[in-house]
This record gives sequence, structure tokens and C-alpha cells, in this order.
Amino acid sequence: MSGSALSPKRVIPYGRQDITDDDVAAVEAVLRSDFLTTGPMVPAFEAEIRAATGADHAVAVNSATSALHIACLALGLGPGDWLWTSPNSFVASANCGLYCGAKVDFVDVGPATWNMCAVKLAEKLEATPAEKHPKVVVPVAFGGRCADLAAIRILADRYGFFVLEDASHAIGGEYMGRAVGAGTYADISVFSFHPVKIVTTAEGGACVTNSAKLAEKMQLYRSHGVTRDERLMRGESDGPWYYQQVDLGLNYRMTDLQAALGISQMKRISAFIKRRRALVARYDAALLDLPVQCPVGDDDSSQSAWHLYPIMVEASVRRRVFEGMRAAGVLVNVHYIPIHTQPYYREMGFQPGDFPEAERYYAGAISLPMFPALTDTDQDYVIETLAGLLA
Ligand SMILES: *Cc1c(COP(=O)(O)O)cnc(C)c1O
Repeated sequence: MSGSALSPKRVIPYGRQDITDDDVAAVEAVLRSDFLTTGPMVPAFEAEIRAATGADHAVAVNSATSALHIACLALGLGPGDWLWTSPNSFVASANCGLYCGAKVDFVDVGPATWNMCAVKLAEKLEATPAEKHPKVVVPVAFGGRCADLAAIRILADRYGFFVLEDASHAIGGEYMGRAVGAGTYADISVFSFHPVKIVTTAEGGACVTNSAKLAEKMQLYRSHGVTRDERLMRGESDGPWYYQQVDLGLNYRMTDLQAALGISQMKRISAFIKRRRALVARYDAALLDLPVQCPVGDDDSSQSAWHLYPIMVEASVRRRVFEGMRAAGVLVNVHYIPIHTQPYYREMGFQPGDFPEAERYYAGAISLPMFPALTDTDQDYVIETLAGLLA
């Protein structure tokens, strides 16, 4: 009997977590321990992140969205200030400015990396009156490849803004010979540990920085603005039971369950990135003769963590190709709908046409499956399906 009628249809997601028995055991051990949250695992996970990035300080929180928020608070962003980011990102890259009561604007992307263009940033700074200059600029490491941070740092020093890198896609990547997050160019970098990202804690995020002052502030904002550190208190401590609220913070704490999963996942980060790079090489070779624009490859200055493998097809065929892939069980996705075209942002006055390169990219964008557990066989099926639809 032919098995084809009975076998379930092949379904390949665009991204997914890779969980081993060791990961499960690490979480189970915490469940059976004294501390489910804010025990020994969170600082141990932070130590892993410091080791992996070379940053002096790491602050783990419950999501990258929370990480972006407390980073903006620590940088002093508030009402009357401006935050500029890339329109080609998830909405969280911009919303963090709004949480702080600041205004948000965008800098268009470049046509090869689809990252914030440093030339356009320079032009926009030049054309903007000083009182509307940004306090914080948020370049996004789209797909895992850093933006032109060296050029953005020069502008930051000239114009006096902070660089808050949204590196949600990029832990494990490199830039200018150092790990993403090392802090040579950005004041703070933020990672996400959502299941589709490079390593996961289910939900989770972290901020890294080389500034002790910024790290101290982010630790306060992560947990109610409350401290037990006498150095941070106003006046004298009442005694060993005492804590003080010295600022208005939030509860953005990561649990020990999440941190234990993160520690276990970090042991495999090199293997994850290696597998992603192998998949990239196979896509690059296979798509060479197809009418698609592939993501720009790694070079001396930048080695992506390859969270995504986004391609651009002709805008006129995008819907047909997307639907054809989905119908074949390949759950392709689109990253990203330009943030300024979202209804919430259009109500602030943004319009289609404001950032044409991000919109041109979006019109043809399709993210192909990219995750460490994707097999060569399944990847071949993705490629054959795509080639069939473009023939
Ligand atoms: C995933 C993501 C976020 C948000 O991450 P969470 O951990 O889900 O809050 C922010 N920015 C970018 C670019 C992302 O891809």
C-alpha cells in the first residue's frame, strides 16, 4: 500500500527551537529546587552572556521588548525626546520609545542589507534642526547581521546620541572581529530569547553594556526601582531587612526556569550558528540561478548569526509564491511589514512612501525556513518548491 495518502503532509516552519533532553533536565532540576525565580540561575545565565559577548555587564529580563524598554529608561529617554530606528523591524524596536513618552521617527534602510543606512542617517541628522535630534538611535541587526555600527558610532559622537542596538536576531554573530554585543560601538545591545531566535528561554531577553552605571540602572528598572544595595540608598539603611524604592521600575524579571534553559542552550550556540551557516551556503548555491535577491553574505567586517534567510522576489509574484509555499507545507513568513505603515503609526502622521527602500523590500520579501534542526532533505524540498513556483 502506498503510504502517501496516509502520511501526514510535510510541514516545515520558518523557524523553531531546538530542545534536547539536557535542556529538559536543566529546567526540571530548577523546578525541584528552592528557587523558581531570582535564584542562582539568572546571574549564572548573565555570566554566560558576558562570556559569549565579551560585554562587562549583562541584565537578563523576561523579553527583548522589556530589555529595549529598560535600556531606553536607563539612557534617560523621556517626553520631549526623539528615538530613531529602522522601519524594517518588529514593532518593539520603535514602541520602546513610545513607552517612555518619547517621539519616534525612522531612518530608511539600504538596498543590500535591508539594515538602517548610515548615509541616510547622516543626511537626516543634517536636515533636522538640533532640537529634534534623537537622544537614542536603535539600529537593528536585521536577520542577524549588524548594521553599519562603526559609521553610526561616529555620528553618535558627533551629534551626541546614544546607540541602542536591537540585536534580537544576532547573539553569536560577529562584527569587526568581535562578538555582537561586545560594546565597541553600541552603548547597549539587546538580545531576544524567543523560541524562533538563536537561543531560547521560551520568553526572555537581555541587555549588555560596558557601562557599570547603565547596568545598575537597568537592574533597578527590571525590578520595581527597588534596591537592597546601601550604596544606592538615600540616607541610612534601617537594618538588614531594609530595601528602598529609589526610582519607578517594573517587574521584568526572568525566572530561574528560563535562565536554566538559557544556560543549557548557550552550550550549543556555536553548533547552532555553524548549522545556520551551512544552511545559508546551501541556499546561496541553490538560489543562484533563480530570479530572487538573496541576503548579502558574510565578509571580513560582519558575520551574521543568520536568524533569518530573507529573499526578495518580484513584487508582482510575491503573493503567489508565498501562497504556493504555504500550500506545499513550507510555512514561509515575511519580515517585516514596515513599522511606519502600521495603523497605530499612521495615526501619528506616517504614510506609505515615507521610507521607500523598506517598502520596496517588503513588497518582495519572503523569509525561507532557517533553523538548526532543518535537515538537508527538508531544505532541498523548500528549494525545489520555490524553484517550481518561480519557473
Ligand atoms: C523578536 C524581536 C523583538 C522582541 O523580542 P521579544 O523577546 O519577543 O520581546 C524585538 N526586536 C526584534 C528585531 C525582534 O526580532
